Amino acid sequence: MKPLWLSLLLIATLGITACSEAPPQVHKAKLFTLGTLVDVSVHHLDKASAQQAVKIIEDELAIINRQWHAWQDGPLMQINQQLAQGKTITIDSSSHHFLQQAQRLAANSDQLFNPTIGSLVEQWGFHSDDRPDAAPPTKKRINAARKQMPSMANITLTATTLTSNNPAVQFDFGAFGKGYAIDRAVEQLKQAGIKDAIVNAGGDLRAIGSKGDRPWRIGVRHPSEAGVIASIETDGDESVFTSGNYERFFDFDGRRYHHIIDPRSGYPANDAISVTVIHNNAATADAAATALFIAGTTQWPQIAKQMGIDEVMLIDNDLTIYMSAKMAQRIQIEIDDAQIKIIDDER
Ligand code: AMP
Ligand code: MG
Repeated sequence: MKPLWLSLLLIATLGITACSEAPPQVHKAKLFTLGTLVDVSVHHLDKASAQQAVKIIEDELAIINRQWHAWQDGPLMQINQQLAQGKTITIDSSSHHFLQQAQRLAANSDQLFNPTIGSLVEQWGFHSDDRPDAAPPTKKRINAARKQMPSMANITLTATTLTSNNPAVQFDFGAFGKGYAIDRAVEQLKQAGIKDAIVNAGGDLRAIGSKGDRPWRIGVRHPSEAGVIASIETDGDESVFTSGNYERFFDFDGRRYHHIIDPRSGYPANDAISVTVIHNNAATADAAATALFIAGTTQWPQIAKQMGIDEVMLIDNDLTIYMSAKMAQRIQIEIDDAQIKIIDDER
């Protein structure tokens, strides 16, 4: 039998060993890319491997940002010039993957998510890092743009080439690129063995795992006031994306014009003020939030169905909150006296 002092010593030593194994910590990093501040939070035991994973992400996001930026001199500008000249463009496999996913999402949205309307977005003044400070385009110019209306249906992709049969196609992936980049970043984290993390680009994010013994908790910004309108706890691997009219806009002659353009009218979509989507794929959530914003209060359930989106919250000009039944089951509304309409669409 062990003497008492030895037993006590053993207990004490074991106690110290257990304590010295610190619980996983949240390692945080801030990256400036994709036109916004990207917050990466990694809940992981080992700080060095968390930092290494963040470095890999930083490089990956920089590559995607450079490749698909709509108005900085770079590869996409060249692609747009070549498309306008009707040329066949050689693409690599990652560009093929990017364009193919965008094309599929555009088709499923009835081309409301339309990343070929770069020329229209530019005419509205949104191809700039600053807030546009000019008059909206004239009706005549908008009608001219609508006549030539390009879409992803004008694009033909092979494994190595890209062609368009409409010279008006000008890519702008502002509604999708962030989601795509976040998907790539999260894949890198997973490959590095990280199971619990959030990649958050200006409020649009994908979360995996949990924050220790609690789920990640996400705030959805109030579209017309400071603070949050709702909160969501993520489960497993989920992306939460919001499109809002408050993100980029300008005022002219007492009217406000924002950056989400309805391809059918050529004008900013005016039925919703924000749309939040939850989906496991960030690129899908990104494109869908934009498409459902344009679809507005009556058409969003149909477009959501076509895009395979079950969890939607749309807020209209009167601050009425429309939600799919699945969103209503899990979202927490954080304001008093909210007007809520749950759309229980039989699927
Ligand atoms: P998001 O914030 O994801 O809704 O994306 C908005 C951005 O996408 C805008 O700033 C434009 O660059 C671009 N955009 C505007 N209208 C559309 C549209 N109908 N389809 C695709 N992209 C659009
Ligand atoms: Mg979007």
